[in-house]
Amino acid sequence: MPEKDKNSQEGPDVRGNLIKVNVGGDTIFVDSNQYKPQVEHAKKLKQQHRKPKNPKPQEWISEEYSKHKIADYKPFNFVDGEGVRCSLYVSGCLFDCPGCYNLAAQNFNYGRPYTQELEDKIIEDMSQSYVQGLTLLGGEPFLNTWVCLKLINRVRKEFGHTKDIWSWSGYTWDELQKETPDKKEMLSKIDILVDGRFMDDLKDLTLQFRGSSNQRIIDVQKSLKAKKVVIWDKLVR
Ligand code: SF4
Repeated sequence: MPEKDKNSQEGPDVRGNLIKVNVGGDTIFVDSNQYKPQVEHAKKLKQQHRKPKNPKPQEWISEEYSKHKIADYKPFNFVDGEGVRCSLYVSGCLFDCPGCYNLAAQNFNYGRPYTQELEDKIIEDMSQSYVQGLTLLGGEPFLNTWVCLKLINRVRKEFGHTKDIWSWSGYTWDELQKETPDKKEMLSKIDILVDGRFMDDLKDLTLQFRGSSNQRIIDVQKSLKAKKVVIWDKLVR
């Protein structure tokens, strides 16, 4: 069998640090460190066009997924809602939004268990007069309802409505109306819901407390009373 001609091989011809590639009929040499085979490029494009998951009503049951774990706890911060806040980041989310700001917290096993000691610490931190409220985010708070309801009930017991409670969720307001009793109970006990998946193609970093323009800052108590979405009256943008 004749020896195969080195120059007739399929795929890129590699010479030192250079790779020979065919671009529109012309042969050029490019730096191998910068060469991205088409398959990788196609994968990247597919990734960019991927959409978050859309569960059917009551498809995801919190207690079937939640491991009652916490990705992080940040006391006294200014970014997770209005005023000074204590923020609890729960572990686990199934929405799988491309461009998710907290990939690690999508894993239900990530982080450490929610403990009574942590809860007591959050209550102690929140008792400072300059703390406006509690923020629940993640991960997905509504897929960790056991943890969130335990903490919400404690906050209401200790502080009544003198502190407010904000929660982020990948679920929209309308989806939560058709959800399981635990999710509806949690919704009924909070003040503000920032709703909806993060949509990379609607990303807007100038928005207050949201990453993409489909997300809304909803006044939960007013909305429940009016039986329609009422946007937070302090919304600027
Ligand atoms: S809903 Fe939030 S935490 Fe969940 S994947 Fe989307 S951006 Fe990430």
